Amino acid sequence: MRATTAFLLPILLLPILPLRTPIERSGYPTDYFRSPLGIPLVLSGNYAEMRDGHFHGGLDIKTRDSEGYRIYAAADGYVERVKVSPYGYGNAIYVAHPNGYTTVYAHLSRFKGPIASFVRSTQYKRQSFQLDQYLKADRFPVKKGQVIALSGNSGSSTGPHLHFEVRTSSDQVPVNPLLFGFTVADSRTPRIFRVRIYPIGETSGVVSTSDQSGRRATDPLTLNVKATGDTYSIEDSPTIRAWGQIGFGIQTHDYHDGSRSRLGAYRIQLMIDGETHFLSEMERISFADTRYIHAHVDYAERRQNRRWIQRSYRLPGNRLPIYQLTDDGIVNVTPGRAIDATYIVEDAAGNKSQLRLAVNGSDLPDDGNVPVLRQMATLARYDAPFVMEHDGFRAELPANALYENTRISYTADSTVAGGFSRVHAFHDRLTPVHLRYSLSIRPDGLPENLRSKALIATIDDDGDVSAAGGKYSNGFVTTRPRSFGRFFVTVDTTAPSVASLDLDPEDKIGRRTRFRFRIKDELSGIADYDGYIDGRWSLFTYDAKRNMLTYDLDPTLATGRHILRVDVVDRKGNKTSLAVPFIR
Ligand SMILES: [Zn+2]
Repeated sequence: MRATTAFLLPILLLPILPLRTPIERSGYPTDYFRSPLGIPLVLSGNYAEMRDGHFHGGLDIKTRDSEGYRIYAAADGYVERVKVSPYGYGNAIYVAHPNGYTTVYAHLSRFKGPIASFVRSTQYKRQSFQLDQYLKADRFPVKKGQVIALSGNSGSSTGPHLHFEVRTSSDQVPVNPLLFGFTVADSRTPRIFRVRIYPIGETSGVVSTSDQSGRRATDPLTLNVKATGDTYSIEDSPTIRAWGQIGFGIQTHDYHDGSRSRLGAYRIQLMIDGETHFLSEMERISFADTRYIHAHVDYAERRQNRRWIQRSYRLPGNRLPIYQLTDDGIVNVTPGRAIDATYIVEDAAGNKSQLRLAVNGSDLPDDGNVPVLRQMATLARYDAPFVMEHDGFRAELPANALYENTRISYTADSTVAGGFSRVHAFHDRLTPVHLRYSLSIRPDGLPENLRSKALIATIDDDGDVSAAGGKYSNGFVTTRPRSFGRFFVTVDTTAPSVASLDLDPEDKIGRRTRFRFRIKDELSGIADYDGYIDGRWSLFTYDAKRNMLTYDLDPTLATGRHILRVDVVDRKGNKTSLAVPFIR
């Protein structure tokens, strides 16, 4: 027996198999799709990169700061949906392929070929700039490499780029496109910036010899890191002591060749004493689940310090299907025993970084950890409905609106200018809310003729007011927000503003063909907009991020005098109409 073991062992230790990358391991077809662009793929955003309120559902591909690059169908298939919107994806095409995947191309400047004429005629038929049209399989077939559109900056894009997604057609869940083998140069390893240790519950704690912050031991401990190549360690090599139960969190981002953009890492693995304790992989996240990013990350840290710290343990209400967990990722600390924690962070191309730290198990200190009971706070269970009522205030949260049991606070402040109620401070903005809930505030001194103009507004720490929507009914104004904050009743009686930028009354337009109008609304926001030439509805494109309506002159318009009109209405029914006569 001994001889056999001695013979086998050296063979098993030989690195016979090459290390496989997440792309190779995932098993998706890597030779099916071609690139949607004719230029090398450089990303300003990758899949599951963290954004406020969602994981990014695709790739943001740079288009050299300009619009108009040809967009190619990634494979044979047919157009299953086409969308035009002043928000979100802007102009977008969805192509279904026979292999069960759909590719999505968004923020386009224009559609090409028969899709372009179909969109325009449908907009005129419906008298609507916005469009979301599903199409039958035989309507617009496409060939691999066919030009279907030109790249742009439409919708809520903040600069010219192509947003590209691959979804499973049956459920429209976006899959990480890099797993399909698109060529993206990436030889750089993910970077690790910080580690955070979270005491779980009120009888757990963590302290570090390098911590000068004066924090309580029950608060999260932030640890800065230093790098030696791809291996990271905790700065100043402190001694860390913990007791009770702890969870870990990590701030890490990936980087590609030739791009300065901060991207998301593909895989985070936390080993505790040599065993995988937590593993997350950014392979597929549905739109229904994407808001769980507020539980996946340390939401308060994001709001306060703009940092994305990803938790390596699961909050009870977090339903993301991206984890492999032992004990929900929570680590039980044993007094007198040291824990060896090792992070391995990997990108889709298989580049890896590693960080190692030790946490010493300690007894609960005699002096500390007396639970602090907050006055005016009521415990809300995350998995049960929660109602809070005070004078002139009622909030009703459905079950699973929170990610963990939370002591909910409430205070009523004095009024603000323009307000028709006190300011109700409902808990705090550092706690995330997953689902919309019902919020009702009783207005004080609201004249009957202003009831239809009433809405709920929020006021932030800087005193900035923004609309939270809502309607008056039965003595209360009720809305459905998705965050905590400071709320009050106000009214919107101000009509939207409409300014003509290129056309003065009675202008002779000569060779000019494009006319822009800046439209804005102060509080409730723009609900609808329409443009007319001589009383006939005409296509005016709306770019919400620029507050801009644009009319491109109909080349068939007769010479002579015409009247252009723009109608804009806000969410409280306040209307503005601007008519500009012009001569062609
Ligand atoms: Zn995008």
